[in-house]
Amino acid sequence: MNRWFCWLLLLGAACLQAQPLVLTDAQRDYLQMKQTLRYCIDPSWPPFESVGPDGQHRGMSADYVSFFRSQLPIPLELLPTTSWPDSVAAAEQRRCDLLLLAMPTPSRRQFMNFTKPYLLIPSVIVTRTDHPRVKSVAELGNAQYGIRRGFGFAELYRQLHPTLKLVEVQSYEEGLLMVQSGQLTGMFGNMGSLGYLLQQYKITNLKIAGRLPGDSELSIASRNDEPLLNEISQLLIDQIDPALQQQIDNHWLSVRMETSEDYRLVLSVTAAALLVLSALVWAYLQVRRLNRQLLQANARLAHQSLHDGLTGLYNRTFMDEKLPACLSLCQREQMPLTLAVLDLDHFKQINDLHGHLFGDQCLRQFAALLQQHFQRPADMLVRFGGEEFVLVSVGVDAATMAQMLQQFVTALAAVPVALAQQQSHLTVSIGWLCQVPARGQTAAQWLAQADKALYRAKANGRNCAVQTEWAGAEH
Ligand code: GH3
Ligand code: MG
Ligand code: MG
Repeated sequence: MNRWFCWLLLLGAACLQAQPLVLTDAQRDYLQMKQTLRYCIDPSWPPFESVGPDGQHRGMSADYVSFFRSQLPIPLELLPTTSWPDSVAAAEQRRCDLLLLAMPTPSRRQFMNFTKPYLLIPSVIVTRTDHPRVKSVAELGNAQYGIRRGFGFAELYRQLHPTLKLVEVQSYEEGLLMVQSGQLTGMFGNMGSLGYLLQQYKITNLKIAGRLPGDSELSIASRNDEPLLNEISQLLIDQIDPALQQQIDNHWLSVRMETSEDYRLVLSVTAAALLVLSALVWAYLQVRRLNRQLLQANARLAHQSLHDGLTGLYNRTFMDEKLPACLSLCQREQMPLTLAVLDLDHFKQINDLHGHLFGDQCLRQFAALLQQHFQRPADMLVRFGGEEFVLVSVGVDAATMAQMLQQFVTALAAVPVALAQQQSHLTVSIGWLCQVPARGQTAAQWLAQADKALYRAKANGRNCAVQTEWAGAEH
């Protein structure tokens, strides 16, 4: 409602601002003689021009007529017709003096004069939505295309593209229906009308597939037996203020513009939604990344808190926690438990001789060999501290364990440790015990027993494993 009001105000203002039409005496006399000018329109060509159910002239040309009336000293009247060809025929038969929006074509020039064009409408082709984009008439091929009967456009296209198979249809509506049903591949026409109809009937399976050369240039056509009328028509067109023209365009082509506004709105909303979605996805990914980092850090911390950093074996904390559980399990299930304490021989010397880095390499290599020899799930390998290690093994009998430990002692001594240019043999002394734990025995007591055996191994000359029997006696 507001828009209508503003538009009327602007139209009124433009009419008031226009300079009065300056006519020559001949032109003035001609109009006086005519008393009334009769014009014809296309009765069904929205939004450019049409006749409403009340018989009133509507559309863009109706607005121009309002302006022309304000400029002319005599009335301007619509001569009703049933169709555009009927209007052209009325002009030819001189029943009307003017056609308001007409394309100058050779056949029409035989009975009409034309002003300079005052309305330019792009020519387009409408196809079904699955049709590829049309970039030129040349690529249209042999298919059949619709064109409105009696239109200047048809005449021009036949001249420009004689090979095109053009099918004349009564109306754009009929043409669009035929395109929808597949009888026609496309429908030629002007963007204003076709865009208007697609919008008006909410047709979604058709699209404007391309802009074609040959824009419709529309002029006022006037009977050529009264040439003064063409001069007056041109004067009227020259009087049109660009602001008024803009207003009329904006008003009647607003359907299309609203569509594009809707489209822009959809685009804006989609863009905003995408932006929010991207932000959410980004935040989610960040949180997920941080969570993963946190989990990894936690896992690393958990690992570090239970493992020795140099050798990767379990540390003493872990052993203190697990050894009592192993003791209980073996006692309950009556399974043999092995506890072996392994201490590298003369390690201080190795350190002193080859340096601390070499010493570290010895510890790493020792641990790796230990893992190779004791890799059952029920074997627990611990760096107890310094160059001292512990093996806790569940379920292996003493005889087997004796063999395994001896094999390890031999294997260690056989392979020298090498780092850079340095090389050294390592040996280990082991004190161990293997038996089904008796009730009430503690981890500390077991460790003490193994330690005693280790002491004996050292005393025996090192590079050996010494087994002990539980000496604490059952209580
Ligand atoms: P033994 O045969 O009687 O066990 O003699 P040993 O020299 O091995 O025993 P001692 O307890 O006198 O020396 C242990 C050495 O182990 C001293 C220390 O420098 C070294 N050591 C302990 N922890 C590390 C470590 O993490 N890296 C290195 N390179 N050396 C270590
Ligand atoms: Mg030691
Ligand atoms: Mg030692």
